[in-house]
Amino acid sequence: MKLKFLGTGTSQGVPVIGCHCEVCTSADLHDKRYRSSALITTDSGGKILIDCGPDFRMQMLDNNEEHVDAVLLTHEHNDHVIGLDDMRPLIFRSGQNMPLFCNHRVGAEVRHRFPYAFADVKYPGAPSFDMHEIRDNFELCGTLVEPINVMHYKIPIYGYKFKKLAYITDASFISETEKENLQDLDFLILNCIRKEELHNAHFILPQVLDLFEELKPRNMFLTHISHHLGTHSDTQADLPQNVYLAYDGLELTF
Ligand SMILES: [Zn+2]
Ligand SMILES: [Zn+2]
Ligand SMILES: [Zn+2]
Repeated sequence: MKLKFLGTGTSQGVPVIGCHCEVCTSADLHDKRYRSSALITTDSGGKILIDCGPDFRMQMLDNNEEHVDAVLLTHEHNDHVIGLDDMRPLIFRSGQNMPLFCNHRVGAEVRHRFPYAFADVKYPGAPSFDMHEIRDNFELCGTLVEPINVMHYKIPIYGYKFKKLAYITDASFISETEKENLQDLDFLILNCIRKEELHNAHFILPQVLDLFEELKPRNMFLTHISHHLGTHSDTQADLPQNVYLAYDGLELTF
C-alpha cells in the first residue's frame, strides 16, 4: 500500500497569509504546506482519502489525482472537512454518493456544515454523501481500517491504522490502552505543531520525541506542522535517526 501526504500544514497552512518569518518566506518547497490530508492507495488500487480540508481541490490537481473511493474523517474542524463540497466533480463523474466514514459526533457536524448535501430535495449541483458512522475496525477497499481513539484537547477524535502504519493528526493525548495498538509499527505518523510552549490541543516536538522513544516505531513522520516548528531543513537536521518531517507530496510504501 501507499500513503501520500497531500498536506502537512496546520490549520492556517504554511506560509501564513501576511507572515514574513523565515519559514513563511522560505523558497524551499518543503516549507509550503497545504492543510493536513493524506491519500492511501490500497493493494487493490482503492483510493482512501484521510480528511478533506480547504486545499483539497489543489491537492488533487497538483498530484494528478482524480479518483477517491471513500473519505475517512479524523474530526470535524474546518481544516479537515471544509473541502467536502469540492468533491462534486468526483461525485458527478462517478454518479455515486461519496462514502464518508467518521464517528457519530463528526457525522452530525458534517450534516450541520453541509445541510444542502443531505436535504430531501436537493438543489441540482449539490454534492451527495453516504454517511457511515463507525466505532470499530472495518474493511474498506480490501483493507482493514482500524480507528484509533485519541484526544484533541477535550474532544475524542480518530486516528486510523492500516497494517503497520498509523496516521494520527490533531492529537494532544493518547491513552495507555490505545498505545497498545501502536506497538510494532513500521510507520507512525503524528501531529507536531511547534518546537516549544505546550499547546492544549496539539503535540509539540518534545512530546512527539517522547512518544517515539516510548512506542518505538521503526519510522516516525511528523505532520500538521506550523511555521513555529522552523524551516524544514533546519528542523530535520536536528531530529533523531528515523524521525522525519513529512512534506507535501511525500509518498510512503508500507
Ligand atoms: Zn487540524
Ligand atoms: Zn510565518
Ligand atoms: Zn483540529
